[in-house]
Amino acid sequence: EIVVFWFRRDLRLCDNVGLYHALQSEYKVLPIFIFDKEVLEQFPNPLDKRLTYIHDAIAGIDNQLKSFGTGVLCFHSTALEVFSVLTKEYDIKAVYANEDYEPKTIKRDQQIGDYLGTYSIPFYLFKDQVIFRGGDILKQDGTPYQVYTPYAKKWREQLTNQHLYDYSIKLASELFYSINCAIPTLESLGYTHGVNGIIPPYVDLPIISNYDKYRDYPGIDGTSKLGVALRFGTISVRQCVKIALKENAVWLSELIWREFFSQILYLYPQVENHCFKSKYEAVQYRNNEEEFKAWCNGQTGYPIVDAGMRELNETGFMHNRVRMITASFLTKHLLIDWRWGEAYFAQQLLDYDLASNNGNWQWVAGCGCDAAPYFRVFNPTEQVKKFDKDFVYLDKWVPEWRELDYVQPIVEHKFARERVLKAFKQALGTD
Ligand code: FAD
Repeated sequence: EIVVFWFRRDLRLCDNVGLYHALQSEYKVLPIFIFDKEVLEQFPNPLDKRLTYIHDAIAGIDNQLKSFGTGVLCFHSTALEVFSVLTKEYDIKAVYANEDYEPKTIKRDQQIGDYLGTYSIPFYLFKDQVIFRGGDILKQDGTPYQVYTPYAKKWREQLTNQHLYDYSIKLASELFYSINCAIPTLESLGYTHGVNGIIPPYVDLPIISNYDKYRDYPGIDGTSKLGVALRFGTISVRQCVKIALKENAVWLSELIWREFFSQILYLYPQVENHCFKSKYEAVQYRNNEEEFKAWCNGQTGYPIVDAGMRELNETGFMHNRVRMITASFLTKHLLIDWRWGEAYFAQQLLDYDLASNNGNWQWVAGCGCDAAPYFRVFNPTEQVKKFDKDFVYLDKWVPEWRELDYVQPIVEHKFARERVLKAFKQALGTD
């Protein structure tokens, strides 16, 4: 008789709500992880560094659990197949996991819950990924917020110590079902291990306490770089919020943006493929494939755009300010559908998260909730003057930008600005 704890995007042993509850049950816990074939299909690049990240995180947990006579039982299959095997091999009393709010995972979890139900096995899901999930923060009239500022105000008001409870538990051999298993190599899953692997999450307190001063300058190492850790749950959001409350209110507001977009995707799942404001579907994008390629490869002739794309392609990270500039350039200067850019970021970003990526792309494109007005078109040259005036970031990523034979600008700024304003006005009927 056992209970199963299923790791998903919560790859840590400490302060993990679902694991805490599994360990509190009267049965021994069998920890599992599924390299889900249906999920991996979306990540076809064998060099995808996120697989190294996940693999290293699982290996770390497995290693820690070895000292308690257990490990992480891994599968390379679909969730349904895994549970059909497990229910035959073990006498399972319950399955524990943490909630996930993406439309596809919600559907999958419903399917698994139904399947386990046929064996009368309860499937317990816990809120772990966020402080407040979709529907937890509502306006007085019971409807969700679609604008960030009042949402964030209510979020702060509603926060209590209870939300920041630490679910860490003292681990011991008798809590786990003893197994002796090896986790599969990345190569056996069809991926290549990144050169150095990926370092464990590290909270740099001086960076966080100075966050408000330096966060906007891509040439300065002024942001936490915790996006990927939050994405895969190698760090607990409760721990981050506790640090933010102590160190920096502006950093807290970023964590609230994350929850804002999480609730938008949960409550309005259609945003995955459609504009939040549907009238923006009428925008006639040009969708020129050559120009899209130039943007992807950092060859637009605008050094800040090219620097951002090259940072992304090389490292899997891009500074937030530059994410805004490159996204604005794609949608406004080149008039290419935000969904193309969103899909490209989804392939490249280590911290890729459907809710945050989609929400931010729609924000930049002007079609999202609480979006930047469509007539705000970032001027890439002015952005450099404001945020990289000593060209530290440009010199790092596009060292040839000062040379005469550097790529010619793909489109002239003033012309592009007028073109996009016309296209949006036409679409919105304000011409
Ligand atoms: P910090 O600046 O230290 O912020 C701390 C954490 O707060 C981040 O790790 C992240 O979890 C959260 N956060 C910060 N800003 C935002 C924001 N605007 N929206 C939502 N959460 C935020 N963030 C992602 O996590 N995944 C994405 O796929 C993603 N795609 C983006 C696409 C575009 C076009 C833009 C403009 C922004 C996107 N962001 C995304 C938001 C933001 O750029 C990154 O979260 C941030 O740059 C990550 O760096 P950091 O970890 O150093 O974060």
